[in-house]
Amino acid sequence: MTLPQRVEHLIVGAGFAGLCAAIKLTEDGETDYLVIDKGHDVGGTWRDNTYPGACCDVPSQLYSFSFARNPEWTSSYSPQWEIQDYLRTVARVYGVRDKIVLSTELEHAEWDDEAQLWRCRTTSGELTARTLIAGAGGLSEPRLPEIEGIDGFEGALFHSARWDHSVALAGKRVAVIGTGASAIQIVPEVQKVAEHLDVYQRTAPWVIPRNDRVYSRPERAALRRLPALSKLYRTGIYWAHEGYVPMFTWQPKLGKPAQKAALVNLHKGITDPELRAKVTPSFRLGCKRVLRSNTYYPALAADNVDLVTDSIARVTPTGIVTADGVEHPADVVVVATGFWTTELPIAERIVGREGRSLAEEWAAGGMAAYKGTTVHGFPNLFMMVGPNTGQGHTSMVFIIEAQVAYIRDAVRTMRREGYAAVEPHVGAQRRWNANLQRRMKHTVWNTGGCSSWYLDSHGRNTTLWPKATFTFRRLLSRFDPAAYVMYAVRPDADREAVA
Ligand code: NAP
Repeated sequence: MTLPQRVEHLIVGAGFAGLCAAIKLTEDGETDYLVIDKGHDVGGTWRDNTYPGACCDVPSQLYSFSFARNPEWTSSYSPQWEIQDYLRTVARVYGVRDKIVLSTELEHAEWDDEAQLWRCRTTSGELTARTLIAGAGGLSEPRLPEIEGIDGFEGALFHSARWDHSVALAGKRVAVIGTGASAIQIVPEVQKVAEHLDVYQRTAPWVIPRNDRVYSRPERAALRRLPALSKLYRTGIYWAHEGYVPMFTWQPKLGKPAQKAALVNLHKGITDPELRAKVTPSFRLGCKRVLRSNTYYPALAADNVDLVTDSIARVTPTGIVTADGVEHPADVVVVATGFWTTELPIAERIVGREGRSLAEEWAAGGMAAYKGTTVHGFPNLFMMVGPNTGQGHTSMVFIIEAQVAYIRDAVRTMRREGYAAVEPHVGAQRRWNANLQRRMKHTVWNTGGCSSWYLDSHGRNTTLWPKATFTFRRLLSRFDPAAYVMYAVRPDADREAVA
């Protein structure tokens, strides 16, 4: 498809965030938009993460749009393929599929202050847009470990989010580096087929049981026929999860029962005292993402699995050498080492009013936005899943819907009042972030005794939201012009700051 030369709204990413923005803008009659995505399909993270065992650890009833509840989920925690199918269906049913251009990556976007629009270069051509809605995701760019010799490995080596399905694992010696949310889903599946599996653990995670179950046909029929029931069910799950907020954000001691449940899970899955000791976490539950699995510990305890806790010294063409000098042979290495989260690659490509990229803007103090969505110096940039919007206990879809409500209202306000652009006041953005960082001091993420992808190189938590999600929704329910510089539409070159 040839790109149009100009659109009102350019949406980057066709995952949950981009699709939600497209659907809701359409509802408002804002149909002059385009969604671009570098992938071959919609789905974002659920398109990319096809590793064996890929599954959502947030209940399926909550991990869907509130306006497109899905009574057909087959189980209480959906596998990847089912979420991907759901997103494809949503894009089609809500009529936004034709507005999506795939295999098209945003290379550069620069705010033209005279023309009051974004000049964008993509791998499929150039275009301008009045607003730039960045929904590229916070967990989309694989972070490969810097290990000596890794490029010289002669077997197959790939990241968990770029699984190479052409590589057969049956009868092979496999190494999995990492023990995070992705790895604990991969390990039980690989253990079933590999001749031998080495799991390289740097930090033992907390793993609580996953109360997964298949929905019966009558249950699904009831959810299909009785929308009020499905809504009630969803609401119940939402509030049950919201109950975890105090434990994460101001009273980490409240996590003790969950920590006990995790230890019971560990003891049930592993009987060998030595292995138990190795997998017992040394930090407070919640400091890193709490993982859910019934199968991870039994897999680690299997005869064909070794948990390697000596640090990795280097990779050789045929295996991995640990700090104790032992070489562990491997045919396949799976790198489950996470993503770029606090130095988002897209930040290097977005250049604001002063000619500085978001990455440059954030280099000194870390990521910061106003309400996780707009950024001083970057008019008409709306970041989805932006700084301090992440969740450790509930569904990101809830946050995404709240952000889209805010963006819609910003666009409506601009239309109604005749403004060309909006940009948060520096003071509003500073106050917002100072308040967040004050709250952070009491959270388990900052006090729990761990390092995690939640914290940046300055030790600041710029990824998570430290309050209840309903508070986030309330704060973003209305666009707040008082916090913004509102630029009037001017046909001539001058910009006029109205407020
Ligand atoms: P992650 O949580 O960042 O875990 C990365 C793992 O790799 C950690 O165990 C880390 O050890 C280890 N690691 C990193 N660099 C290493 C190195 N150089 N040498 C050895 N080990 C290294 O990444 P992830 O598992 O891909 O998960 C990322 C996030 O994606 C999750 O927190 C979650 O939000 C999301 N996710 C969600 C689901 C879901 O079900 N909804 C599933 C998968 C992922 P340390 O702990 O010591 O740093």
